[in-house]
Amino acid sequence: MDTDYDEVSVEETLSRHRQILDRFCKDKKLNVVEVLEEVVSGESLAARPQMMRLLDLVSTGMYAGVVCMDIERLSRGSSMEAGYIMQIFQTNYCKIITPGKTFDLQNESDEQFTDMKFMFSRYELKTINKRLVRGRNQSASEGKFMGSMAPYGYRPYKLSGVKGNSLRIEPEEAKVVQMIYDMYGKQGMGYNAIAYALNDMHIPARKGQWSQTSIVNILTNEVYLGKIRWRREPVKKVVKDGFLAKTRILNDDYELYDGMHEPIITEEQWERARAVQAKYKNTSVHTQRELKNPFAGILFCEKCGAIMKRYLPHPKESPTAWYRCPTRGCDCKMIKCEVVENSIHEAMEDWLEKYILEIEADQQPKADPIAAALDAVRGQLAQLQLQQENICEYLEKGVYTIDMFTKRNASLTKEINQLQSTEADLLRQQSEGSQKRQATVQIIPTTQHILENYPILTVAEKNRLWKLVMRKATVYRSPENKLSIQIYPRLPK
Ligand SMILES: [Zn+2]
Repeated sequence: MDTDYDEVSVEETLSRHRQILDRFCKDKKLNVVEVLEEVVSGESLAARPQMMRLLDLVSTGMYAGVVCMDIERLSRGSSMEAGYIMQIFQTNYCKIITPGKTFDLQNESDEQFTDMKFMFSRYELKTINKRLVRGRNQSASEGKFMGSMAPYGYRPYKLSGVKGNSLRIEPEEAKVVQMIYDMYGKQGMGYNAIAYALNDMHIPARKGQWSQTSIVNILTNEVYLGKIRWRREPVKKVVKDGFLAKTRILNDDYELYDGMHEPIITEEQWERARAVQAKYKNTSVHTQRELKNPFAGILFCEKCGAIMKRYLPHPKESPTAWYRCPTRGCDCKMIKCEVVENSIHEAMEDWLEKYILEIEADQQPKADPIAAALDAVRGQLAQLQLQQENICEYLEKGVYTIDMFTKRNASLTKEINQLQSTEADLLRQQSEGSQKRQATVQIIPTTQHILENYPILTVAEKNRLWKLVMRKATVYRSPENKLSIQIYPRLPK
């Protein structure tokens, strides 16, 4: 397959590495004492004079670290030599600093990692690949276009005089991009509606027909602002439905550079699209990046107990998502996700309102037997303590003999001790009760938080919060279209 970008040459790679490391050292405020560059990449240490010099320097013990692109670059020879190199770094407390990671050989796990990487350093496949990616990143930071297919609205062209490619505006398509931004940002049309409209006007799409995805891609690509997007790790392994799948990460982990190409839209158009997007972040017709089912793991079929599946028909059949009972023979009919979501939201609102009233009633003082018992015990205690004071007075006034006083005082003291231990028991019970009540009350603010912020929560957030306040919910739509929804709030036992 032909790529649109140029092959990265060895010299170019080296000079890029130099630039990257320069910038890295400046950013990290590293005091660079000496720069060593090995032009020849010999197989053995002896054939790499700069490497020999490096080891001599490290051996003086005066260097905190060696900065290099890749740990693999320090060794090319046999694993024995690698071991030797590592030993010199370790005994001289010298770190190996790469833009990706700092290796401290005093740290055992780093040591093992370094060890292993050195051993495999001769097999450079991975490194070559990484180097190529890095070269491309550098090109991206210069504003060149790195992709293999130009975004809609642009055509790629080869830069003259320098290596690399950039983008040229394709006027007809640029008008369509403008139109899409206006339909979304100004006219408030959804992705699907825009796709339908464009197909209706017979405006040709890049491939086949306009779809929700192609519209989303245009509305979220900074390339139209004149930027170049660079993702650090474009592909990530993820486990999806029990299968290992490689997915493009569509999170915000990318860098933006000023492109060499002209923008098609204005900052204002871009910002307006962002604002609309933020507003509708909760609707299911959105990006494919996150979890889509707010009730993942907690929504069951009321009839058969199966976990309800979220089902998205082809957009031509139905523009909305449905919940479907997967059990063969179960007569539960499909229910629109939106309906389920609204109903559960409402049910939780009703429940919360009642629950708050219940809790408030429960917290009335009359309803607390422990508090009443405490009052009684404290009253008795006060009386006994008063009696104890009295007998002291009797003794002083000669009403009581010492013998009488001693006996009376002993019995009073015994009673007081008993009551005090009862009081302590009651206090313990009271604090346990209030802890439990606190756990009960905890569910209130969490539920309120979900209900109040619902429109601005992401689906993943909704799911996480629903799971906090609900053990499960069940739904059933009978063949006669009777809809039933039950919620099971998570209450402390
Ligand atoms: Zn069912």
